[in-house]
Amino acid sequence: MSLGRLFGIEIRLDFSVLIVFALVVYSLGAGLFPRWHPTWGPALNWSTALAAGLLFFASLLAHELSHSVVAKLRGIPVPRITLFVFGGVSELEREPDTPATELLIAIVGPAMSALLGFAFTWLGAALAGGDFAGGVFTDPEAAMANLGPTATLFLWLGPINLMLAFFNLVPGFPLDGGRVLRAILWGISGDLQNATLWASNMGRVFAWTLMAFGVLQSFGGSFVQGIWLLLIGWFLNNAARNSYAQLLIQQAFDELIVGNLMRTHFEVVHPDLTLEAFVNELLLRSGQAAWPVVEDSKTVGLITFEDARATNEGERATRTVRDIMSPIDEHLRPDVGGRDALRALAESESDPLPVMEGNMIVGLLHRGDIARWLALHELDAQQHR
Ligand SMILES: [Zn+2]
Repeated sequence: MSLGRLFGIEIRLDFSVLIVFALVVYSLGAGLFPRWHPTWGPALNWSTALAAGLLFFASLLAHELSHSVVAKLRGIPVPRITLFVFGGVSELEREPDTPATELLIAIVGPAMSALLGFAFTWLGAALAGGDFAGGVFTDPEAAMANLGPTATLFLWLGPINLMLAFFNLVPGFPLDGGRVLRAILWGISGDLQNATLWASNMGRVFAWTLMAFGVLQSFGGSFVQGIWLLLIGWFLNNAARNSYAQLLIQQAFDELIVGNLMRTHFEVVHPDLTLEAFVNELLLRSGQAAWPVVEDSKTVGLITFEDARATNEGERATRTVRDIMSPIDEHLRPDVGGRDALRALAESESDPLPVMEGNMIVGLLHRGDIARWLALHELDAQQHR
């Protein structure tokens, strides 16, 4: 669900946010606020809870926007922000290319949350008046009960934003604090891969600690809170593991070109070959999925298993490859980088994509080839560890 654009960035809302929003409003309107204010009626309780829920998500958005705006200022395009159940994600078009940029982008989010936290707390305390600060320690219940709705709202939002800042500063990748740690290690060592490995391992330690606390809590009676911690820990553990794997793949792809990945062992056909001969002598005799059609040392088209299958069996003796072959609309060149090739394959309908040099097909690149190459490379990466 799209909410519109801010600073040229599309703001999107995942469906899961609505569930969390409902949970936050419910726990405030039915739990916390009635406890703080036994004299409030339901209308005041629920409208304050609703406002608190909205401002809470506005705070999350402000956190995410600060990451995105700094990224844009440092020259990295940010097409969109997605808010989802565990917070938000800013989709940076590429990873920061220096430790300083990464540090700035990472630190500004928690800084924004901390700033909001202090501002809301200060506003709430100012609205509550001088008696509140003294009273909250001697008789907290009475002090809270005397607060108006706006002060209550701010004194809930302030600490929540401060907690958000603290949680995000935990030095485990891919949390903001983990990115800060990675940027520092990367700056000191100059080695992005090892810095990421360390930061993501810290992230996994933190994730397992959360999960352990979650299990203890759910056995200790706070079942819902325990499950919630378990879920967050599980999510963080996956995120930490994936982000390291992703970096390895990305680095591998950067060194790779289509010429390394494409299949070079394939047969070609002449356009005047009958379909009957094509099916019986070529198609049924190999695992090839697409045949370049070559005439006078020029590739004039491509014929696939699907093309042949779509023809009427009775007509195959009289029709030729030329009748049903398709022209080559899209193709790759052997010197195209691995990352661009992956994108081209993902966006294309045809699999394999022909690789052309001048007028000739020099290779065929299948989607499956990349997975095969990755499988071999992952094996390789583990052996070197
Ligand atoms: Zn953040």
